[in-house]
Amino acid sequence: MKIAVLPGDGIGPEIVAEAIAVLDTIGKRFGHEFHFDFRLTGGSAIDKMGVPLPDETLKAAQEADAVLLGAVGGPKWDVIDYALRPERALLGLREKLGLYVNLRPAKCYSILADASTLKREVVDGTDILVIRELTGGIYFGQPRGISKNETCEIGINTEVYTTPEIVRIAKVAFELARGRRKQVTSVDKANVLESSALWRKVVIQVHKEYPDVTLSHLYVDNCAMQLIRNPKQFDVIVTTNLFGDILSDEAAMLTGSIGMLPSASLGERDGRRRAMYEPIHGSAPDIAGKDMANPIATILSAAMMLKMTFGLDQEAGVIEDAVLAVLNEGYRTADIYSEGTTKIGTKEMGRRIVEKMSAVTL
Ligand code: NAD
Repeated sequence: MKIAVLPGDGIGPEIVAEAIAVLDTIGKRFGHEFHFDFRLTGGSAIDKMGVPLPDETLKAAQEADAVLLGAVGGPKWDVIDYALRPERALLGLREKLGLYVNLRPAKCYSILADASTLKREVVDGTDILVIRELTGGIYFGQPRGISKNETCEIGINTEVYTTPEIVRIAKVAFELARGRRKQVTSVDKANVLESSALWRKVVIQVHKEYPDVTLSHLYVDNCAMQLIRNPKQFDVIVTTNLFGDILSDEAAMLTGSIGMLPSASLGERDGRRRAMYEPIHGSAPDIAGKDMANPIATILSAAMMLKMTFGLDQEAGVIEDAVLAVLNEGYRTADIYSEGTTKIGTKEMGRRIVEKMSAVTL
């Protein structure tokens, strides 16, 4: 099992180190051999190799069974031209690996419900799967750029969706809903945008193949409001690249902290299934190097990898149970700390999760 490991920038290396320790423990306990291929990406790649996604990093990602990514970016590189910024590495990986599906589960652990800024009774029990289209829409559409006319500068980006792009993401949503509560909410802005009108029309067509799943539609502004008002009404949300980016961060806060949420980006290229797993948060430069970052989102991303790429459901379960056990004992990183619990750092959180996994009887 070959895993390309891209720790990236800021807290990336700190949280990835804990996820690797967790995978090593799974390897030892279950007799699996994981081969980790560590590569530079993002700002750290810019510093050493001049580009955010060096060819050798891309090649390692293409040759691996899965990619585990920390996070990229930081103020140090914010002055660089957009085309060369650390974040371009993410777009490059998504594009070159054909990762068109982004799965972002937002589940509120009852024990952490008080860490949310919303009331416990609103968030407790929330279990949403946000499915974001990842290789289309305004992040990739042409034309784009900043031009000038006689009087001012003009910034342009273009929202584009084709029928096949919408069909394949809608199918993923309906298929995954079948393994959950069978409700899909498609989110668009069909009252204003033509690309959204097409999105809605195609989702309705695809839905005909899935009569056992309920489909509803929401405009993105209403969805943003409903997520805060009553998140438990949602099961699967499927939406475009831009709307998914924003709504999944909003959904993250329902669960207490962005530091808890894993993600999987899936697709196919050159006849092979491709997958990249990463926490949904960024490189958190404000806490980088301070042993304060919550590694759980990255550890749970590794668990998603075991399940979705390698079919190792039992092993993934051992990780998820260990995370819950440590939380149940009251240990918290700063982002999920509340009175009456014990604040610990990144390394200590990782160590305690590994300890729980090692103690489990198989
Ligand atoms: P961010 O997610 O890095 O941080 C937002 C806030 O959440 C910060 O206060 C941070 O301290 C906190 N936070 C994030 N992850 C945490 C964790 N694991 N534990 C505890 N607290 C955590 O978002 P930002 O500040 O908008 O962006 C910082 C940099 O990250 C930027 O350069 C941005 O472009 C980049 N970014 C990268 C990715 C990615 O690599 N996938 C995603 C988003 C942002």
